[in-house]
Amino acid sequence: MPALIDLHSHSTVSDGLLAPEALVAHAAAQGVKVLALTDHDDTAGLAVAAKVAAEHDMQFINGVEISVTWRRRTIHVVGLRVDPDYEPLRAGLEKIRAGRHLRAVGMAASLSKFGIEGSLEGAYAHAQQGIISRAHFARYLMDKGYASNIKSIFKRYLVKGKPGYFEHEWASLEDVIGWIKGSGGEAVLAHPGRYDFGRSNMLLLLEEFRNLGGAAIEVVTGSHTVDQYQEYAKLAAMFGLKSSLGSDYHALAMRISRWDVCPSCRVAVYRYGRIGRKH
Ligand code: AMP
Ligand code: MN
Ligand code: MN
Ligand code: MN
Repeated sequence: MPALIDLHSHSTVSDGLLAPEALVAHAAAQGVKVLALTDHDDTAGLAVAAKVAAEHDMQFINGVEISVTWRRRTIHVVGLRVDPDYEPLRAGLEKIRAGRHLRAVGMAASLSKFGIEGSLEGAYAHAQQGIISRAHFARYLMDKGYASNIKSIFKRYLVKGKPGYFEHEWASLEDVIGWIKGSGGEAVLAHPGRYDFGRSNMLLLLEEFRNLGGAAIEVVTGSHTVDQYQEYAKLAAMFGLKSSLGSDYHALAMRISRWDVCPSCRVAVYRYGRIGRKH
């Protein structure tokens, strides 16, 4: 069995359900040998995760997944091997987190207009130690019985045009790649298959990403199908970018996600139970 490698995962520092220590132990128990913790806009879990990884004889990579606004659309850029103490990165993430709080206040006000009260406090109660995210609002709305699963909650309440959606401007692609590279890391375009802005925009994005110094795109990720592995491997080659892989583990699933080996593509991947797509 090949060594399992996962370069994209979340803990309770962002919207994952396992504390950094527990996440690392869980991954180690399932045979992951190389793990990057990549919480959204926050590096607070890295030190403890690295410590626990060392105890499990696992190679640990300092990571972060940064929220970006590109041409008025939200995309995510993963930084791998970043230095969390690099001042522009630290300050940049701090600013994004402050923006997250303001967005959360706006989301709660908007939900309140639709008769849903208490969502700010409710979401913060789910945000155990780090950033506040739509995922925390989703958990609150689920507690309150607004839908029976997280996916429906997003669809009905938290996406564009729905009561809890609040327009927000994240960091620029240029700044984010600059922070990552400046800190000694590599920038990876996260889960490109999730951006439904069409082929020509994808090509524009990849060109701009590469020209700004981006290093790789996620080819194998929990939300891609096997066909998308092929599609994005081709695009990576076309733009001279490396291919990355990661689970995007959150443990949001009702079914437990697990690391595994993809039989059809013969790489170590991670099955993302929530999405339920076949590998
Ligand atoms: P935010 O960065 O606060 O906008 O929250 C986005 C996070 O919500 C993502 O990182 C996912 O973890 C989660 N998310 C987004 N869309 C969905 C969805 N349709 N179903 C479940 N989780 C989602
Ligand atoms: Mn997330
Ligand atoms: Mn993401
Ligand atoms: Mn992620």
